[in-house]
Amino acid sequence: MTEEEKKQARDQALWFGWLSIAILVAMGDSLALQIFFSQLRHDHLVSDAFDSVQEQARETLQTDFERIVEELARIAQINIPDWERQMANAIEGYLIAQATAARGRALLPSELLEIERDQIATQMDYLAGFRQDLESEPRTEDYISSRSKLYAGAGRALWYRIAEMDAPDGWVVDYHSVDDSGTCSPCVSAESDGPYLFGHGPFPGEVCLGRGRCRCQRQPRFDLAAWEALSAERLDFAA
Ligand SMILES: [Zn+2]
Ligand SMILES: [Zn+2]
Repeated sequence: MTEEEKKQARDQALWFGWLSIAILVAMGDSLALQIFFSQLRHDHLVSDAFDSVQEQARETLQTDFERIVEELARIAQINIPDWERQMANAIEGYLIAQATAARGRALLPSELLEIERDQIATQMDYLAGFRQDLESEPRTEDYISSRSKLYAGAGRALWYRIAEMDAPDGWVVDYHSVDDSGTCSPCVSAESDGPYLFGHGPFPGEVCLGRGRCRCQRQPRFDLAAWEALSAERLDFAA
């Protein structure tokens, strides 16, 4: 698509968009509105502005989470059950916030349930292990703080999983590796082994040895040939 064609497609989408919004508002249907907006976004017609707002939200949420768990580390020195309870709340709230930011709307109950069963349950298992370690061996506040921050990685991965939930035809994602202090080998491999289909392959903060320290990104790119090759591979694999 040329720039001019893209612009025309976008203008047309916006025009139909406003018309549909007027109809939806008249019908008083806010869920339909949300679905409509997410559809427009996933068609990559009005994606740029939405994407940058969502990415900013992801980074802000991650920084806030790291600050909160750093403060909680002090409580772990005094009262471990209290610390575990507050950590559990912080992790759960953080994961739900990342998923919501990635979706660009409130999560449906079914989506929330899936995240609770999958990502939140996994992190709660890790947290139980962390608590057992602390009970068996006293640790410094610095140790607890930096280990707590590793949990941020799960939110970063979840953000990308949710953002890539609806896979548009012809689009693939590249893994761009940028870790905080020296990029780890799984992140380097993740970059060189790409591109990937939406929702497939390695996720930042998840494959990264630095977990929460990972600053890698997955970036969508339209590449019909690569998408066809990857889709065919996947079908072969499934067969
Ligand atoms: Zn890494
Ligand atoms: Zn990384």
